[in-house]
Amino acid sequence: MNERVSAIPPGGRIGILGGGQLGRMLALAAANLGLTCHIYCPDADLPAGQVSAAVTRAAYDDAEALAAFAATVDVVTYEFENVPAETARILARHAPVRPGALALATSQDRLAEKSFLAAQGIATAPFAAVDTLNDLEEALARFGVPAILKTRRMGYDGKGQVKIDNLAGAGEAFAAMKGAPAILEGFVPFEREISVVAARGLDGAVAAYDPVENVHRHHILHQTFAPATLDKAVADQARAIAETILTRLDYAGVIGVEMFLMPEGSSGPRLLVNEMAPRVHNSGHWTQNACTVSQFEQHIRAICGWPLGDPARHSDAIMTNLIGDDVKDWQALAAEPATGVHLYGKSEARPGRKMGHVTRIYPRGTRP
Ligand code: AMP
Repeated sequence: MNERVSAIPPGGRIGILGGGQLGRMLALAAANLGLTCHIYCPDADLPAGQVSAAVTRAAYDDAEALAAFAATVDVVTYEFENVPAETARILARHAPVRPGALALATSQDRLAEKSFLAAQGIATAPFAAVDTLNDLEEALARFGVPAILKTRRMGYDGKGQVKIDNLAGAGEAFAAMKGAPAILEGFVPFEREISVVAARGLDGAVAAYDPVENVHRHHILHQTFAPATLDKAVADQARAIAETILTRLDYAGVIGVEMFLMPEGSSGPRLLVNEMAPRVHNSGHWTQNACTVSQFEQHIRAICGWPLGDPARHSDAIMTNLIGDDVKDWQALAAEPATGVHLYGKSEARPGRKMGHVTRIYPRGTRP
């Protein structure tokens, strides 16, 4: 691309859809660059609103409120991928929406996402569209069991998906989709889960952070190990996959690309892409303490037309999410050396709720 674009200068205002912790950390990073944020969110408990210059509390389908919000900002971004297409269209009449409509449409629908990846020559688990029980039975006959049936839309953290362990379970699994369009994926016996957080600027420049390894508990990210222990060729390939996705989507901003690492010696490619999130990503939180420019600042730089920051890590890191009551340990955590503590300002520590995270850093090459 390399076109000259005018940057949004310090003093500019960024609109953010969504008021959770990602919006909060984006707003904090924007403040560091002399930019201010306006949060748009229907909820009352607003971690992002606490640290932003302005808040609009309204529904995502309130056309009038959306237009009024967008008229106050220089650019609109979002902290969640399920922004309705119509919402993005209304906003785009008043301010650029970054990442754009193509990134949203592709990542909102697991079938569109996997079809896009396949068209770029990027490997995924085998997949097939499932609209009827017959589609499901045919796909199961092709992929075998186990397999995973997922809703095409609105699924995250393992929600909206059923594992099918034997062919007789097809009917029950299909019923669990409650009529929603679905996708069947062959179950891939991966060795580890890794991800790449990367950014693309308005000038087409790409900057990828080191690939990291993610460990989940109860379908929620528990820890991220940075960097992932990988052969250089595999790490380079993971970064290259992220770069291809960013470029082909003509993307602006940060993306999180989740991948399965297949066991060494297995037939087929080592890396399969599971999904991509068109936003800052939980597996990129470690960059706040282990890189000069965090993923949050990088996203702000990218959507505002600033030069991207250097994604090199100065330290190794282990990021641990504080889920529910974990946050009660804040005093002990705050006393730990070489530990960044990040709390989200949420009023109630419900089980399963992300309340904060800590990032423990280690000199490069020495993480446990
Ligand atoms: P997702 O909601 O697609 O991110 O899936 C949630 C988790 O389910 C992933 O992090 C994997 O641990 C597991 N998973 C999803 N799809 C597959 C698959 N095709 N094969 C094996 N495990 C999977």
